[in-house]
Amino acid sequence: MINISENLENLSWIPRPRLLALRRLGIETTEDLLTHFPRRHEDRTEFPQFPREETDAPICLCGEVIKTSVRRFGGWKKIFEATLEEAQPNALSEPLVCRWFNLHYVQKMIATGQRIVVFGRPRLRGKRICMDHPEFEVIENDEEISIHFRRITPIYPATEGLSPRVLRGIVYRVLREFPDAGWQPIAPSTLVRGERSDAIRAIHFPESWEARDAAREHLVLSEFFAMQMLIASRRFESSARAGQAHCGPGALLERFLKALPFELTAAQRKVVSEIQRDLAANYPMNRLLQGDVGSGKTVVAISAMLLAVEAGYQAAFMAPTQILAEQHYEVLRRWLEPLGVQIALRTAARQEESGPLPLFAGQPSGSARVSRADDGVTPSRTFPEADAAEGARYSRRRLPHFEKPWAIYAVTIGTKKNRCLSPKARTSVLNSLRHFHEKRYEMFAACVMPDHVHLLIQPWPKSDDNTGKSAFWPLSELLHSIKSFSAHNINELEKKSGSVWQKEHFDRYVRSDRDLEEKFHYILRNPWDVGVAGQNEDYPWIWTQDDEARNEGSFRRDAETSTRDACATLTVANADPQIIVGTHALLYESVSFSNLGLAVIDEQHKFGVAQRARLTAREPAPDVLVMTATPIPRTLTMTIYGDLDVSTIDEMPRNRGKIVTAVRDTAKLGEVLSFLRTQLEKGRQLYVIYPLIDESDKLNVKAAAAEYELWCERLRPFGCELLHGRIPAPEKQQIMDRFRRGDTNALISTTVLEVGVDVANATMVLIENAERFGLAQLHQLRGRIGRGEHKSYCILLSSSPAKEASAKLAVLERTTNGFEVAEADWELRGPGDVLGTAQSGLPALKIGDLKRDVELMRRARAAAMSIFEMDARLELPENQRFRRLIVEQQGQSFSHVS
Ligand code: ADP
Ligand code: MG
Repeated sequence: MINISENLENLSWIPRPRLLALRRLGIETTEDLLTHFPRRHEDRTEFPQFPREETDAPICLCGEVIKTSVRRFGGWKKIFEATLEEAQPNALSEPLVCRWFNLHYVQKMIATGQRIVVFGRPRLRGKRICMDHPEFEVIENDEEISIHFRRITPIYPATEGLSPRVLRGIVYRVLREFPDAGWQPIAPSTLVRGERSDAIRAIHFPESWEARDAAREHLVLSEFFAMQMLIASRRFESSARAGQAHCGPGALLERFLKALPFELTAAQRKVVSEIQRDLAANYPMNRLLQGDVGSGKTVVAISAMLLAVEAGYQAAFMAPTQILAEQHYEVLRRWLEPLGVQIALRTAARQEESGPLPLFAGQPSGSARVSRADDGVTPSRTFPEADAAEGARYSRRRLPHFEKPWAIYAVTIGTKKNRCLSPKARTSVLNSLRHFHEKRYEMFAACVMPDHVHLLIQPWPKSDDNTGKSAFWPLSELLHSIKSFSAHNINELEKKSGSVWQKEHFDRYVRSDRDLEEKFHYILRNPWDVGVAGQNEDYPWIWTQDDEARNEGSFRRDAETSTRDACATLTVANADPQIIVGTHALLYESVSFSNLGLAVIDEQHKFGVAQRARLTAREPAPDVLVMTATPIPRTLTMTIYGDLDVSTIDEMPRNRGKIVTAVRDTAKLGEVLSFLRTQLEKGRQLYVIYPLIDESDKLNVKAAAAEYELWCERLRPFGCELLHGRIPAPEKQQIMDRFRRGDTNALISTTVLEVGVDVANATMVLIENAERFGLAQLHQLRGRIGRGEHKSYCILLSSSPAKEASAKLAVLERTTNGFEVAEADWELRGPGDVLGTAQSGLPALKIGDLKRDVELMRRARAAAMSIFEMDARLELPENQRFRRLIVEQQGQSFSHVS
């Protein structure tokens, strides 16, 4: 008797060449062989009588050879014909003519008087019923026949040196010699019907189609069950790990939501509360957030991070690209700085800290835009072109702008590197600021920190101006005065020389009362937010007009100090940033998280399981939220993401403009262009996407540049810029900033734009050679538009007449719903390549089909989960065998993960 792990070499009857061929299929043991399942089955049950007509399906017939002949055609070519007659012919019987073209060996095998079985499709040829190139077998011994014919016959994927037929013979014999008791059950009997041994037999050589289907169900369920046990074990393992609760009481979140210019959708609220529950639990969160492009995942991520920050933890926000990281950083600063949250950007190209310096930077729509609608004052440059000192941390922010009468500015001045202001020096600076107050400007608030100063001032008209025109003190002049005046005092005080201040300073135009309010409070809270002052400690270098009016220096508990107190509770012990934004590279660089509580990973589909594992392996385990805009078919959610809890945003924010999608032939470019122009004239913006397969290819970059020239020409006089992956990151960022501000009308880009980029005024995307992209990618690209209130247009240019291409593009014309696109994509593509199981760290499937067997997957998953719910450590005696099951698979699977 052979056993399940018996090496096939030990079966003396398998010839060596066959063993080698089997090995190429990865088959070495009996079990390997018997779980090498047929790809399909053929109905070769013998047909009761010879056909008198054509049939569509191939049939199996058995008869006696009554005549053979060879005919020549086209010179040397030969046709061999064998005519068969039914075993019990009757008056109506027709003989069957089997024909083989140019197969000399057939001629040698078949002779008159033999009984043979054939399997093929009968065709009417003239008056004769013919079968061309049937599979056949000369009947010598009936057992051999019953393996290959007269039954539902398994068809195996062949390999070089091993025909399906040979493999079938080997399987048949091994099965016959193998004892039923050799098979251990895999799935519990509550999940599957019958014995595994019966299922294995029946999948190879079923008695009926029903038996085949039942066997397949049994085996698929077993396979899925094993996989789900592995997934469930990972899931329970991670939730059994000691974690911490990372959830603050929610006051900060409340304030954030109040300040948002929109209400969360019901779906967003639901998801936030799901996350909140996980954060509050003291096991690590592992949650997948799915939501179509534009459904507002970022706000949800921010909400989660605020909860963690409020609880005193750091949060990390990781994006797949530099552009996206920069964008998130800007959004976070805009929304969170007013709340006093400190944010840092850490990417390979740029490292920047928000708060305490520079104040209120990162609002690209700043002063320049506002002051353009000026009321007649000679514009003067605020900042002379200071030399861009190498390594100046904030040089990027020195945006020149024009001034406006009675404008209010929030200004930050930093000290020279390593220069820390002593308490006395700080007092001196404050005195300097007060010195000019109500002379050259009105000062609303100021705060002198050890290495920088924040102030909120409104420049006054110059009193010595008597030309009738009101000229205001330029900001540059004011700051120069403040700096030199204070530097002089400080150097005198400290008996030092040299400069005290950095050349650059950062100013932000105050745009509204709310803005003013926010900046005012930001400045007054700063020492507590940053942790320079302890919670109940006084910080004497803060100044407001009120303080001035009431005897300066005495610290009173009034309305304003209570703001300080409220905010002081948010303070982290040290000045570490509370939120770190970066690319996925954050995982690999030695970024020091001092106490990471939550990691958010944006656009998970670009992020492998192994990378995620790297994050979750940290001690203590942070909560992890992964977000994806690629809607995932249900089976994949249960497998590849099976160890994650899933939250779905299934609703779009209201008042979104419609997106119209149209496929156009490249020949129609002219019409398309004139349409785009009408939209550009209305002030809308455009993305043009061209397919660059390999951005590392120099030739391609050249092609992109040529393409760009062409588009500049086509869209003149509208301004275009070129964006692709090889542009250095800081430059990329500037290009995006200009586009976001509306300085550029069109962006000619590669797919670096694919994910996340969010510019509401961009309402058109034109995709060249659209057929070259995958559906999911096209949907992502289309997701760049339709983000504002305006109607948006997605134009897919294609010149491909191929049927599959037009079927693919038609899906996008039909629907803007990402889930529908994903399902269609899943249908159009083979099951194999979706996200690749290798990347998932799960064993490859031998029989189950992720597309077809959704329901079985669901049942298997429920069964596995319920075992773990009852006995998470698999300690019960009846669950022992599952341990083995998991261990075996671990061994197989983790070798796949690179
Ligand atoms: P995605 O889910 O693709 O990451 P984003 O988070 O970038 O989407 O959101 C797209 C845009 O929708 C952003 O400009 C965001 O400010 C806005 N937004 C998010 N939630 C809402 C909402 N509830 N109502 C209106 N606009 C919203
Ligand atoms: Mg996004």
